[in-house]
Amino acid sequence: MKIGLFFGSFNPIHVGHLIIANIMAETTDLQKVWFIVSPQNPFKPSKGLLHEFDRYDMVRAAIHDNFKFEVSDIEFHLPKPSYTIHTLVHLQERHPDKQFKVIVGEDNLERFAHWKNYQQILDNYGLYVYPRPNAQPSHIKLHPNVQMVEAPLLDISATFIRNKIRNNQSVRYLVPDVVAEMIATKKFYL
Ligand code: ATP
Repeated sequence: MKIGLFFGSFNPIHVGHLIIANIMAETTDLQKVWFIVSPQNPFKPSKGLLHEFDRYDMVRAAIHDNFKFEVSDIEFHLPKPSYTIHTLVHLQERHPDKQFKVIVGEDNLERFAHWKNYQQILDNYGLYVYPRPNAQPSHIKLHPNVQMVEAPLLDISATFIRNKIRNNQSVRYLVPDVVAEMIATKKFYL
């Protein structure tokens, strides 16, 4: 079974993430998409980053009705900072029957050669790449384990959403209703 891994801080998860994940699950040979929530970096505390459990809970609520989606807290339990290759190796050991692919935006390819053990990521796993604005041409695309996937460009970010909340503006339609309710009830991002 092929699984696409979608890494992010998901602070909070929004429709931009969900649309891309759904396209990956519905238009490629990936059978599932796992959302890998990044933990807080203890050495680099980031203001405005919700606790990892709250971000995890919002992802879980957002995806509960899609059987192709799962959320993982695997990186909460791995050494920090998280490196994609460590997470991949760990997941592969735990799930030897599965084939893992990393879902990335095209803008990541420019710096991909600086990722830890990037060649191992390419050779042993592979990338499923969706278009992003201002992505520079990259030779990484030529690797046989890199697959380009057609998807719309969605200019929605968690930063934009957090700013709306801070300004007491609605985030309806930008995040699933259940996420908007959690944000309002728990007074996140105010
Ligand atoms: P922030 O605004 O806080 O930086 P973000 O919206 O970019 O957050 P992340 O949790 O960092 O969200 O995103 C996880 C992954 O999804 C990243 O690789 C990011 O580039 C990608 N991503 C975020 N928003 C979109 C979008 N609208 N379309 C496609 N990819 C996105």
